[in-house]
Amino acid sequence: MTQKKVLISGASIAGPTLAFWLNRYGFKTTIVERAESLRLGGQNVDIKGAAQKVAQLMGIEDEIRAADTGELGVQFVNEANVIQAALPKGESNLGTSELEILRGDLVKILYNHTKDDVEYLFGNQIIQLDEIEESVKVTFQNGEIRVFDLVICADGIRSRTRGLIFGEEPVVRPVGLYVSYFTIPRAASDSRWARWYNASNARVIVMRPDNEGTTRASFSFLSEPMGYEKLSTMEQISLLKQKFSDAGWEVKRVLSALENNTDIYFDAISQVIAPRWSKGRCAMTGDAAFCPSPLTGMGVSLSVLGAYILAGELSTHTDHQQAFAAYEKVFRPYVTKIQKLPPGVPKLAHPKTKMGIFLLNTIIKIISSKAVQKLGSLFSGKEKSSTDDTIELPDYSKLVSV
Ligand SMILES: Cc1cc2nc3c(=O)[nH]c(=O)nc-3n(C[C@H](O)[C@H](O)[C@H](O)COP(=O)(O)OP(=O)(O)OC[C@H]3O[C@@H](n4cnc5c(N)ncnc54)[C@H](O)[C@@H]3O)c2cc1C
Repeated sequence: MTQKKVLISGASIAGPTLAFWLNRYGFKTTIVERAESLRLGGQNVDIKGAAQKVAQLMGIEDEIRAADTGELGVQFVNEANVIQAALPKGESNLGTSELEILRGDLVKILYNHTKDDVEYLFGNQIIQLDEIEESVKVTFQNGEIRVFDLVICADGIRSRTRGLIFGEEPVVRPVGLYVSYFTIPRAASDSRWARWYNASNARVIVMRPDNEGTTRASFSFLSEPMGYEKLSTMEQISLLKQKFSDAGWEVKRVLSALENNTDIYFDAISQVIAPRWSKGRCAMTGDAAFCPSPLTGMGVSLSVLGAYILAGELSTHTDHQQAFAAYEKVFRPYVTKIQKLPPGVPKLAHPKTKMGIFLLNTIIKIISSKAVQKLGSLFSGKEKSSTDDTIELPDYSKLVSV
């Protein structure tokens, strides 16, 4: 039997995870990535619940643990860098979680585990897709035309490939918050704790330790959708300077380090709501299909799980349409649950006034208190919320010879 050829767009988390599993099930996979090389920017990301189990099955859990950033928790500081409240690692569902890794380290691990079996095409992208008989004709930006059995788009929240397949049907819904992530040199005031600083006018600066001798910084601010994500990197830097220059605390240091940064992630935090995840021989997964937003802390976990389930369903159905339908049936209810943001998010964490900031720090002090956690567990019957591990992971190994 000839191997089915699958083209995946996007070499971040969802794309390589999908390729890993498809390879294991005997498919021939190609990944096309628009960037010239892997994009390694970003901060700590969590791998939770069932996604941790998938990492175990992939044989990468130990590597992920070994790359732990060593963050001890989150301290909420005031302008004078005095700690107002703290959430130690693992003691609350908020803040630092048990299994955290720099996004770039996870991307490298996934790449290293797939590069020998997957054809990677960097610096290229799909510009046209035409379904012809039993396959899809793909036109690449460099002019090359190739034919694949299936095409999966895993190229993130602003996926252009998604537009080629579904047009305007999927909705990218902004939550009213802009976030920018970038890496800066470590300074004497940085420790193994993440530091969270609320400035007036709904602005937040966070600095987190990493395992590479640098510091991962982020700026976030509440705003109506303004199209800032479409600006060039230089324009985004000057916008951040304008927005944050009077924020106080260590902002001068952060802004001066931002000056020479080239890998800045800047986006209007949004969710992707798509009524269907497949059309004909094309489908989508990861943020492109169902971005829950970083506010849920589940972007990476959903990407890993979605890729695992999509590959599993493709391996157990000869008909791709049945496989795509099964993928949605198994995974959509879970995605819908994760995408529900708690009331007040993200406004609660971005107060406008000094009084609002004071109240936020008080709430965090209360949340971090052992007594309240105990009380909470009396009502919920659990020590911690477990929204992240409530999907029953299908076991595809029983159905295919791996
Ligand atoms: C540089 C970067 C930094 C990030 N930092 C954070 C962070 O600090 N915290 C956080 O919670 N989330 C962060 N994210 C988002 C996070 O990675 C995703 O929410 C999650 O991991 C889902 O991954 P994904 O593979 O679906 O999409 P993404 O991680 O968004 O990856 C999409 C990939 O597709 C590529 N791509 C885009 N368009 C095309 C195209 N037309 N053709 C081919 N390739 C294309 C992109 O270059 C990228 O490599 C970051 C994403 C990126 C790209």
